[in-house]
Amino acid sequence: MRALVVDRIGRLVTWDDERPVLEDAALVVEDGVVAWAGPSAQAPAADQRLDAEWRCVVPGFVDAHTHLVFAGDRSAEFAARLAGQPYAAGGIRTTVEATRAAPAHELLARAQRLAAEALRSGTTTFEVKSGYGLDVATERRLLEVAAQLTPHRTFLGAHVVPAGVDRTAYVDLVRGQMLDAVADLATAVDVFCEVGAFDGDESRAVLAAGAARGLDLHVHANQLGPGPGALLAAELGAASADHCTHVTDDDVAALRDAGVVAVLVPVAEFSTRSPYAPARRLLDAGVPVALASDCNPGTSFTTSMPFVVALACRELQMTPAEALRAATQGGATALRRHDVGHLRVGARADLVVLDAPSEVHLAYRPGVDLVHAVVRGGEVVR
Ligand SMILES: [Zn+2]
Repeated sequence: MRALVVDRIGRLVTWDDERPVLEDAALVVEDGVVAWAGPSAQAPAADQRLDAEWRCVVPGFVDAHTHLVFAGDRSAEFAARLAGQPYAAGGIRTTVEATRAAPAHELLARAQRLAAEALRSGTTTFEVKSGYGLDVATERRLLEVAAQLTPHRTFLGAHVVPAGVDRTAYVDLVRGQMLDAVADLATAVDVFCEVGAFDGDESRAVLAAGAARGLDLHVHANQLGPGPGALLAAELGAASADHCTHVTDDDVAALRDAGVVAVLVPVAEFSTRSPYAPARRLLDAGVPVALASDCNPGTSFTTSMPFVVALACRELQMTPAEALRAATQGGATALRRHDVGHLRVGARADLVVLDAPSEVHLAYRPGVDLVHAVVRGGEVVR
């Protein structure tokens, strides 16, 4: 048995039900899994030791919403928005053109760079969506690339209707031939349910087709304005409703009653100078909340979960503890994973040693790299 002890931890966030935080603690990992947590002075010996020097240790971040596989660059569009132009869903087509033209090895190399960047900032589990192919062959290629990066792969053929294509025919393609072509690679299906993308009936048709093939459901819901996305997510038992910027009280109640995770992505709002999601209303109503990067080239080109946490504390009125929990356990719930997002005994040993005494510093010191070490599956990877 190969064991690692992380000792002299000043503050250990485990999210254990009874004692979610331990002071002056140690953690023992055996075969990649948390085997013991307790007072540092009582830590058993192990083959390998990581001395935390009284830093704070938190679970590895779980980023439940990314669009990591793409080609091209939209910095010009970003600059134009800074100069006053609003965001519209059509910008996605720019990335689709570049992505269709890129060979698979280039897509993989770019995505691997972003995944490595995410890992350096403490992300140990992440989801990847397709949605920049919008034809059968390219959507499959994107999910093949994603399969080399993560077990969480979401088919987003219903991202936007490609230019020059009849929308009824496209919805039929997505929920039929395209879904068949990717069903062995995808673990979930998602729809951009929004004015300018897909309406409620179109979204329901695609999601139902995915559910019929055994896929989990995610919904891009209520991002740019009020709409049917959140209610649809609740009706269909989706794992998550993502964005949730423009939600009514009925939407909030439906998400809570159905146990749908609201995945909030504040960097999208930061980058597009849009109103932030009503995180307090969602939390206070009892909706499970996750924080994610929404890493994509159009509206949120970051992989940094520490930055997401800082922004959530500043703009979503979340406490540092709430934000950290949403960025770890919340993300895991949105991905229906029980073994990550916490550090209870039995968890996969994914953890971040922060160069800070507590998680408060993630918000208190925005933009500063506070990641001292990253452990994934019991291996020290940074
Ligand atoms: Zn997204």
